[in-house]
Amino acid sequence: MLGTVARSRPRVVIVGGGVSGLATAFDLHRRVGAAAQLTLVEAGSRLGGKVVAGQFSGHLVDTGPDAILMRVPALTALLDELGLSDQIVPQAALGAYIWSRGKLRRLPAGTMFGVPERLIPLLSSRLLSPTGLARAALDLVLPRRAVPQQDLSIAELIVPRLGRQVFDRLVDPLLGGVHAGRAAELSARSTVPEIEALARKNRSLYLGLRRLRRHAPPTTGGVVLASLSGGLGRLVAALEARLGAADLRLNSTVRRVVRDGGGYRVELADGTSIAADAVVLATQAFVSARLLADLAPDATTLLEQIPYVDVATVWLAYPRSAVSRPLDGSGFLVPPQEGKLLVGCTWASVKWPDLADDDLVLIRGMVGRRGDRRWLGMDDEALVRAVHAELVESMGMTASPVDQRIDRWPQAMPQYLVGHRERLDALDAALRDQPGLYVTGAAYRGIGLASCVADAGRVGAIAAQQITTDIARKGPRLAADDRPSSEVTS
Ligand SMILES: Cc1cc2nc3c(=O)[nH]c(=O)nc-3n(C[C@H](O)[C@H](O)[C@H](O)COP(=O)(O)OP(=O)(O)OC[C@H]3O[C@@H](n4cnc5c(N)ncnc54)[C@H](O)[C@@H]3O)c2cc1C
Repeated sequence: MLGTVARSRPRVVIVGGGVSGLATAFDLHRRVGAAAQLTLVEAGSRLGGKVVAGQFSGHLVDTGPDAILMRVPALTALLDELGLSDQIVPQAALGAYIWSRGKLRRLPAGTMFGVPERLIPLLSSRLLSPTGLARAALDLVLPRRAVPQQDLSIAELIVPRLGRQVFDRLVDPLLGGVHAGRAAELSARSTVPEIEALARKNRSLYLGLRRLRRHAPPTTGGVVLASLSGGLGRLVAALEARLGAADLRLNSTVRRVVRDGGGYRVELADGTSIAADAVVLATQAFVSARLLADLAPDATTLLEQIPYVDVATVWLAYPRSAVSRPLDGSGFLVPPQEGKLLVGCTWASVKWPDLADDDLVLIRGMVGRRGDRRWLGMDDEALVRAVHAELVESMGMTASPVDQRIDRWPQAMPQYLVGHRERLDALDAALRDQPGLYVTGAAYRGIGLASCVADAGRVGAIAAQQITTDIARKGPRLAADDRPSSEVTS
């Protein structure tokens, strides 16, 4: 329960204790300090949301996200500030494979979201047929094409420049691996903004990409993807530790947010409510849609238009002797038109030095992408059998796995379909009548953890501005706190 001191300060309620909610709380705490009471409300019994660790074959593994993108300045700044920079564990720089037409083929070095930077590695990977390669090379000589102003799908952007094969065999599998989506439906502007900008500015995508790489600021030590020593839970723990006097409430499900005088009332499933001057919804878009149904129905409609895809991760441990091929990569991705269940496969004990094992090879397969729900009908044993069969086919496994772990992630991957940016603009407009109400999270401006941190900083800055100006002018709300909602409404 909050005391009288808390009530004399404006209160910000952050709903959702995943990385987005935690990073927003941390950002606000840093900006406004003790000037506001921060309350973070999480439905589950732990913080971190999808960042979660578990045991597998004697190792502590990140069962959800396992890598952070070090190219995003907001993330590296946060790691610095949290004192985690010396805990960064780079992913082994071994490159990856694509499972295409019956073989694992090298993903050409230097691609960005599957768009190649050079033709020679593309040639030697034999990913494309001679005609596909010739079509891809045309990008070097084709005249400039005007890119229409409206949002395009990634297919509409890439195919006219590099041809169908680059799209099918490189771009689509890479985006499947990150978004569990189909690149023919995903918005180019929201999913691959760097590539979209390149296509607008340059006659040739290759040359544009090469120029971009030449001028890109270097990442810390050249590391692109990394984990933290002990796993990504370190980030969650460090954020929590730095939240000071914030009021963290676990096992508290928010049911809805309603207007209450000049502020809001956050109603919980247990019948209590929390009065707030500002509310940040760091929940999944479909949850935020429900929470706002009474307050902002237009926002609810827009939030419901962001679909999510179910995925599962299948961990298998093989005796070393069962793997005859060299494990000289971080794993492989699978183009959707191959018709396989696997979307991608990480050779975890090779990719992460912390997971190296003398006796076992640890593999993590991912299944589930938009339009492919076959695995949903399978029980764990059937799923393991199916994934193992695909590993026999792709990697030549000669024995069965000796250990397994399955994590199912329902409604896990938000899809930025064509028109996503326009939907976000409309969402901002729909929330304009609700001052002090914000949404953040993986559903909006970047699906990865690094982008979630960046968006949390954006929302934190706006909310802090509101706290220091608007609320200072009006004074904090003096509404009842933490009482049963029946009391508040009566
Ligand atoms: C299998 C998998 C692998 C991934 N791999 C990577 C990767 O390697 N790198 C990467 O950068 N990203 C990866 N991602 C994506 C990344 O994990 C997510 O985008 C990110 O964790 C989202 O964080 P978030 O805080 O926005 O949402 P979440 O982590 O989903 O947090 C939302 C929180 O809100 C809470 N909540 C929901 N409803 C309520 C309610 N009514 N009241 C109160 N609380 C509520 C939930 O319990 C949850 O804790 C992966 C995702 C999955 C599923």
